Amino acid sequence: MRPFWRHSILYFTAVQVVGVAAVVGIVFVFLTAQVTDSRTQSQFHSRLGELLETVESTLQIACFAKDEALATEVANGLLKNSEVLGVVITGGGIKLGDKFKPISTPALLERANGTRLVRKITSPFDPDEVVGEIQLIPNPQANDQLVRANVGFVAMLLGLQLVVVVAAVLAVVLMRIIRPVKGMSDGLHKMGVRGDNTLLRLPSGQEETEIGRLVHDINHLTTTLLTAHDEERAARLQHAVDERKYHAIFDNADSGIYISNEDGWLESWNRSLATLFALPQMADTQDAINVTNLPWRDPQRLVALMQTCIADNKPQADDLEFQSKNKSPRWLRVALTPIGGKRAQGLVSDVTQHKNAEAQARRETITDPLTGLLNRRGFFEHAENLIASCIQRPHAGFALVLIDLDGFKRINEAMGLPSGDKILAKSAARLQSCLKSSDMIARLGGDTFVVILQATAHEENVVNIANRIVQTLGSFLEVDNTPLRLGASLGIATYPEDGADLPTLIRNTELALDRARAGGGSRMAFFEATMAKDAENRRSLENDLQLAIRHNEFRLFFQPIIDLPSRRMAGAEALIRWKHPTRGMVPPDAFIPLSEESGLIIDIGLWTLEVACQQLAHWRAQGKDYYLSLNVSGRQIPEGLPPQILGDAVKRHGVDPDKLVIEITEGVLLGDFAKAQTWLMAVRAQGFQIYLDDFGTGYSSLSYLKRFPLDTLKIDKSFIRDMGEDNSDRTLVEAIVAMANSLGLSVVAEGVETEVQLALLNQIGCRYVQGYHFSKPVPAEEFAAVVIRIEKMLLNT
Ligand code: C2E
Ligand code: CA
Ligand code: CA
Repeated sequence: MRPFWRHSILYFTAVQVVGVAAVVGIVFVFLTAQVTDSRTQSQFHSRLGELLETVESTLQIACFAKDEALATEVANGLLKNSEVLGVVITGGGIKLGDKFKPISTPALLERANGTRLVRKITSPFDPDEVVGEIQLIPNPQANDQLVRANVGFVAMLLGLQLVVVVAAVLAVVLMRIIRPVKGMSDGLHKMGVRGDNTLLRLPSGQEETEIGRLVHDINHLTTTLLTAHDEERAARLQHAVDERKYHAIFDNADSGIYISNEDGWLESWNRSLATLFALPQMADTQDAINVTNLPWRDPQRLVALMQTCIADNKPQADDLEFQSKNKSPRWLRVALTPIGGKRAQGLVSDVTQHKNAEAQARRETITDPLTGLLNRRGFFEHAENLIASCIQRPHAGFALVLIDLDGFKRINEAMGLPSGDKILAKSAARLQSCLKSSDMIARLGGDTFVVILQATAHEENVVNIANRIVQTLGSFLEVDNTPLRLGASLGIATYPEDGADLPTLIRNTELALDRARAGGGSRMAFFEATMAKDAENRRSLENDLQLAIRHNEFRLFFQPIIDLPSRRMAGAEALIRWKHPTRGMVPPDAFIPLSEESGLIIDIGLWTLEVACQQLAHWRAQGKDYYLSLNVSGRQIPEGLPPQILGDAVKRHGVDPDKLVIEITEGVLLGDFAKAQTWLMAVRAQGFQIYLDDFGTGYSSLSYLKRFPLDTLKIDKSFIRDMGEDNSDRTLVEAIVAMANSLGLSVVAEGVETEVQLALLNQIGCRYVQGYHFSKPVPAEEFAAVVIRIEKMLLNT
């Protein structure tokens, strides 16, 4: 292991700087040695040259004179110089003297040889005459010494420089790099320890340097990391809290909770689940438990629920039936939530009570409490489902039978509601007896029942069943010790032929039922396409009717009524006519029932009252005291035509109230009994007369003739028509007249068409007559002429 300081930047820097500087220094020293060597050598030579010059004249003399002693003296003198190794002087070919230093070794001499200085010596008298030669052998050691001194100096300088440079570099590195880096490092260390002082301080003067950028980057990174760290810690904390809460809920929940894999193997479950499924507590078992293996009635539903939950990664819930041993079946609601890793959390709660209550409530909402049959809603649900299933199966169909009890309303009102309810309950039971238990029967409300006959391969079958229903419902029935007999009318439509949807189908059974009722009841009618056309026709007529008053399309016609004993014109009946712009004259029978249904009859009634009063005022002005009878529908009584309005109308026109007759039918008396009575009393109290129209066609009970304030009976024209041929009708008319007389009521015979009928009525003692025999209803402007004609007619009989 290397000591720590060898990892230091300072160490690296020092090693590298010293290394580089040393190499450079050595090269420098070497170069310096080379340069100094050659330079000192040349200086050396010039110095030796100068030395020679000092002895030149002496040498000239010595050579000229061939003075060996002088030459030796010169040589010795020269040899004294430390830079001279040896001296050789020759004169005229003769060696005059040579001298060498004692240090002169052959090797040294050999080195010096190349550099020896040779100079010719001229005669002192003739500078051109050479008299000798001197050879000066320089001392290389002296040169070496000089060079060594020079190089040593240079090396010393370089060494000094090296020390200074290294120190400077290291100082810079230390101050500018190492200290800030260490500062940062210390900062970072502290950061870990304390956690508060989170940012590094920027060393001064480093704002723009790499260190500055590094500090900045580290601070940025630190901030990012700390934020992330804080968030993560908060999340972890929250998670821990959630976990604790979840466990509290998990352990103590009333509902069963479990976690399972996608195949239903339980990983964990709570106490409630263990209780619910009679499982061991989770802590007490090592057994693998699969939730789909528990005794579900249909385990596949749970399997499917789980698969969808995991595959779609969406919560799923379903109510599943659960049947554990020796226990009653239960309904459990299983709500699954995917929790990742192909696992799901299941929440199981017992919803048996809720389910039972729901089923009970549902049964109640679709059951008619009176008859125990399906109610309206039940019927619609059943029928809609049936149609939906028929759509899936081509060739499937059924017959819808709408049943209405004939005359139920009247009996209900006569006998009271409790008896009415009994009739309905008994009728329902009878209806059930005609049908198979698989047929659907419902009461739509009131006395309207509906039956769906399925598997109607042969229409014959439907006809048979329908006939059976008509017969069964039409047979005698005893309610509250009273034997009763109601008929039943049936309207039948088949799916899909007569309607591909329920509303159409029902509408068409209604049309068929209308047809059966119109035929007199106690019969059935199958829907036919023309019925729909008739209905459509009626609808458009109804639309036109709305506009008829505004467009002033109604007229009032008048049909004379004759007082037989006095043979005088007594008055007239006002009969409405509708002059339709395209249909022409529409008879009242075609639009009065319609206007009654829609309520338009109320406006029509007010209009006829007004016109009738005008007519009465007109007659009064002409001095005629005819009365005028006005037909009033049950629908107008009591609110549609308040007695007050009647009174106001006659007052306004200055007409005597006893000239206005109100014609009502038995139907009015059969409605709200008390209201009708009050209305009639009030009308009567104002002085108006009241006629009972169409007498003999309806219920015709003597009791109400006594109870209602009536003035006159109008015998229905059907009796008059057959009087001539049929004795029984004649007797009937006679009885009516006698009875009326005994009650103090007058009688009008309407529909008198022949002389014979007139004669018979005369005989019987009927006071008033009305009919085509005298005149059809005519417009007001023709009335006067008709009167003249009739009066003539009466005079002639
Ligand atoms: P209703 O009140 O029974 O009127 C008598 C009907 O018998 C009238 O028919 C009349 O034209 C017809 N009639 C009179 N004499 C004879 C006869 O000798 N032989 C035959 N076959 N018929 C005769 P209309 O005018 O067609 O009226 C039909 C029904 O319409 C009326 O029957 C009445 O119930 C209703 N109605 C007519 N006008 C009004 C009205 O202004 N208000 C109301 N609410 N109903 C009206
Ligand atoms: Ca009438
Ligand atoms: Ca009548």
